[in-house]
Amino acid sequence: MRYQSTRGAAPLLGFREATLTGLASDGGLYVPEQWPAFTRDEIAAFAGLSYVETAVRVMLPFVGPHLDEDALRTLCTTAYGRFAHAAVTPLVQLDDRNWLLELFHGPTLAFKDVALQLLGQLFERFLAGGSTQLTIVGATSGDTGSAAIDAVAGRIGVDIFMLHPKGRVSKVQRRQMTTVLAPNVHNIAIDGSFDDAQALVKAMFNDPRFAGRFQLSAVNSINWARLMAQVVYYFYAAVRLGAPDKPVAFSVPTGNFGDVFAGYVAAKMGLPVAKLIVATNINDILHRALSSGDYSTGTVTPTAAPSMDIQVSSNFERLLFDLAGAPIGDQMRGFEAARAMQLTNAQRDGAAGLFASNAVDADGMNEAMRWAYAEAGQVIDPHTAIGLAAARASGLDPATPIVTLATAHPAKFADAVERATGVRPTVPARVGDLHQREERYDTLPGTYQAVSSYIAERAIPRP
Ligand SMILES: *Cc1c(COP(=O)(O)O)cnc(C)c1O
Repeated sequence: MRYQSTRGAAPLLGFREATLTGLASDGGLYVPEQWPAFTRDEIAAFAGLSYVETAVRVMLPFVGPHLDEDALRTLCTTAYGRFAHAAVTPLVQLDDRNWLLELFHGPTLAFKDVALQLLGQLFERFLAGGSTQLTIVGATSGDTGSAAIDAVAGRIGVDIFMLHPKGRVSKVQRRQMTTVLAPNVHNIAIDGSFDDAQALVKAMFNDPRFAGRFQLSAVNSINWARLMAQVVYYFYAAVRLGAPDKPVAFSVPTGNFGDVFAGYVAAKMGLPVAKLIVATNINDILHRALSSGDYSTGTVTPTAAPSMDIQVSSNFERLLFDLAGAPIGDQMRGFEAARAMQLTNAQRDGAAGLFASNAVDADGMNEAMRWAYAEAGQVIDPHTAIGLAAARASGLDPATPIVTLATAHPAKFADAVERATGVRPTVPARVGDLHQREERYDTLPGTYQAVSSYIAERAIPRP
């Protein structure tokens, strides 16, 4: 498999290089040159497979020739062996048609672990024995940071610099990052929003002087390997609910459009997906784009679902590219200049068949938390609640099961959950004494100069 940039002006890469690189040199994102597809019989044969075996089948077409089946199985076994549930991503039934897919049984309690535990394994394998020193630079709205840090802390050959918006992540989220004291981990709180942090990271990748000095790598969902790992659980869940004979809908709490793009890939690969419901909070650029073609940024409003407090959804570019069927460098540069654009008719029509969308406000979110608790005894987190609220409002045929992706453990957002339900969720024992441990991080102004020179002083340059 080879990977091409959504902007059409960067070299084609193999899986290894695409994984180690992240952002393409023309500012675009890497996508496979074509979508591998499974037949109905092949999908039917996924029934009864373990998570790891499903993962091997779904990902194998993407990783050749750099990994063979046995190597991939070894990496998946290690990565998913760290999950605290035998099913890795178990399904929980709420009522006749609503299901939760619990993606938070990994070490840092959010779905980001599903991809990042594997990415940590891939980095280690691809760097083994070489002299490359990777400099991972990332921005987090809360959950990517801790999952990425957990995946690479203490690993040889990797330094990680993680930017988070100061005061805009929950205390559990912050402490999960800042109490990891391994010398290769560097936490930076910046004055600004997640979008500001993400723009700084993109600017470093796009600055030839900076990017030329260090072997930069991305752990945000701009990294293709992350999305690839997330395709797996769409197959795993749908097959358990009757696919390929029965189509299944998914409701996905969305910020950067990564998780839901993985669902689109699953559909491209032949999984019968009835609908992908894009659930946003009041930071609703994706809902506006999908419902009216208006992709224009507003200012970010902080909410109780901070991992979705995003106005520029990086991975939407991958969808727009796929729907356009051609590189979209001009369209994206226009968007970056004007902070606004209209989808083309081809993009709007292409999205309309598979996607629905909804923006859920605080009342809708709180009501969904209360409903899940009253109806099924399930305490869910605010992000999951936004997905569930959108699922329940979707108006889809009642015979179609809807799987809401449960993206975080409720204990990560205990205050918001307690306010809505009266129940205070506790952090699982496997996370340990999070609130007692020493924290370490630096605070910087959200300027390119401040952040890039901080990193340049500490990262190890290319030989
Ligand atoms: C990251 C995150 C999201 C949004 O996922 P995207 O892939 O960015 O759309 C939703 N919920 C939680 C808990 C998250 O950590």
